[in-house]
Amino acid sequence: MIVDTHHRVHNYLRISLTDNCNLRCFYCMPEDDYDFASAQQLMQADEIEALAKLFVSQGVTKIRLTGGEPLVRKDAKAIIRQLAQLPVTLTLTTNGTRLHDFVDVLKESNVRSVNISLDTLQADKFQLLTKRDQFGIVQQNIGLMIEKGFHVKVNMVVMRGVNDSEINDFIAWTKDTPVHVRFIEFMPFSGNRWTSNKVFTLEDILATVSEKYEFIPLQAEKNDTAKKFMVPEHKGTFAVISTMSAHFCGDCNRIRLTADGKMKNCLFSKDEVDLLTPLRNGEEVLPLIHQSISTKAAQLGGQFTQDYELLQADIIQNRSMITIGG
Ligand code: SAM
Ligand code: SF4
Repeated sequence: MIVDTHHRVHNYLRISLTDNCNLRCFYCMPEDDYDFASAQQLMQADEIEALAKLFVSQGVTKIRLTGGEPLVRKDAKAIIRQLAQLPVTLTLTTNGTRLHDFVDVLKESNVRSVNISLDTLQADKFQLLTKRDQFGIVQQNIGLMIEKGFHVKVNMVVMRGVNDSEINDFIAWTKDTPVHVRFIEFMPFSGNRWTSNKVFTLEDILATVSEKYEFIPLQAEKNDTAKKFMVPEHKGTFAVISTMSAHFCGDCNRIRLTADGKMKNCLFSKDEVDLLTPLRNGEEVLPLIHQSISTKAAQLGGQFTQDYELLQADIIQNRSMITIGG
């Protein structure tokens, strides 16, 4: 088992397949001087499989593929098929632009649930947020995935003054559509222009929903990061991921592997442990995994323990979100 000094058992691995993406969300990809990793720097399909097997041998039971955009990788289908052979629940987080080409392989691979990111229901705002004109295809693919029987969660990063006015439009969407909206508090990463006044908190979100709807809390499952709710009679549900205002680190079971093969024991850890180079050199990797987890901080990478409103984003030492894998 992969256990840290705070007795947390880590059975959930998030693997970033690439730091490349076909969208340019400003809160994720830094605008200045962003260079994608070279193909040689990225884990190759067989290396991903070898590392995933090691984690599974240590008790990992769930793997999420992420990025960058995991589905822009040319060998994404082969990787999905390989990982589907492991005794894990396999899932992915995607911007949804390429899903129409992946329905069959996801079905074959027993993927039942997908997280699709969509921060606005307005085409012109989508263009402003992502700098790409792909709103129509994302909407279409969300519909397609629901029609094909997948459990679809929609990730919406809420930013004050940007899209908070759309919260109840997303709730309205859950009325007749079995879509599970997850409102995510805006988090600081390198180069993403985060300021505390842009955070729209759990409390703000629930206050906004209650202006228009009555809702009830849903039972939390073990290791849930999201606080879940539903409006009675609605086919879908909603949830809030309140990393900034009410973190859930005490129950954390997650480990991250970046596309260049570095293990991060927390989304906000400044330290990383290179697993890919030792793997390529034929050295032992397992001790490195346990060594990394033994240094995991109690909360938020040990980097911000104070009230988020007092936080100065420029003192946080971390990568940009796109190079971590959200
Ligand atoms: N490209 C895929 C996508 O967009 O879903 C997967 C990678 S993306 C980095 C994973 C998730 O992180 C997305 O839901 C995205 O909205 C979220 N994310 C990115 N930057 C964020 C930030 N600064 N605060 C909160 N969530 C963020
Ligand atoms: Fe790309 Fe996803 Fe980041 Fe947007 S959030 S830039 S889609 S990786």
